Amino acid sequence: ICIIALACAIVIILVMRLRFYWQVQQEIREREKAEEANRLKSAFLANMSHEIRTPLNAIIGFSSLIAELDLTAEEKEQYANIITTNNELLLKLVNDILDLARIESGGIVFHKESCNLTDLVKTLYKQHLSDVPEGIEFKEKCPDTPICLYSDKERLYQALENILKNAIKFTSAGFIEIGYEYSAEAQDVRLYVQDTGIGISPEDQEAIFERFKKLDDFVQGTGLGLSICQAIVKQLNGRILLKSEKNKGCRISLVFEL
Ligand code: ADP
Repeated sequence: ICIIALACAIVIILVMRLRFYWQVQQEIREREKAEEANRLKSAFLANMSHEIRTPLNAIIGFSSLIAELDLTAEEKEQYANIITTNNELLLKLVNDILDLARIESGGIVFHKESCNLTDLVKTLYKQHLSDVPEGIEFKEKCPDTPICLYSDKERLYQALENILKNAIKFTSAGFIEIGYEYSAEAQDVRLYVQDTGIGISPEDQEAIFERFKKLDDFVQGTGLGLSICQAIVKQLNGRILLKSEKNKGCRISLVFEL
């Protein structure tokens, strides 16, 4: 009886120790998670203030220049153009930030329905035909039999459009192709945009999905487009696949299981 009682006591002590150890580990994990969330929030706010201040400073600076100096009509027009560009940038920035925050916080309700992917790709293609500069071939490729995906049409369109706009921005020769394909092996469908633009080197491929990340500060954009795409695709239970080689082009796919 003594031995059994001793064994029971040992087991109870061991279980209690294990529980205590597990609780401490859990608390450490939660604290680390809270600290990481706090760090991300601070970094986001710091970045946001910087990104907002840049166009705002240009608007303030050039507005006072126009008002104060004796300028030629040509200079006035030039400064007015700078103000308009920065106004548009600021508006896009605020819209993107609000959009991202609403999607990530679940503040946007996703309306899922049967989406004909051929219709989606063809609509996107037609609407951007005139945005692709001359000299770049713009192609669209869909399977012979259209595939329907149960998803949010509007948000899917928004994500693919963001990727297409990047392809247009970063391609100066060759082609841009939008389309989708079905993989029988993986049982998934892949909506893609492929381009022959400047491409992204392997070391930058993860970073471009970070908020405000731009590889070239002189190119217009908020650096939020791919973060928004990622947030949308996550809410739609998909994933983003990126294949790229520097100076060779880029293929970004939105992958959804069927
Ligand atoms: P933005 O909203 O400013 O376009 P994104 O988040 O969409 O920002 O993209 C971030 C960065 O990723 C771009 O500034 C660019 O450096 C790089 N990038 C995205 N798409 C492409 C592409 N098709 N080819 C080359 N670089 C790209």
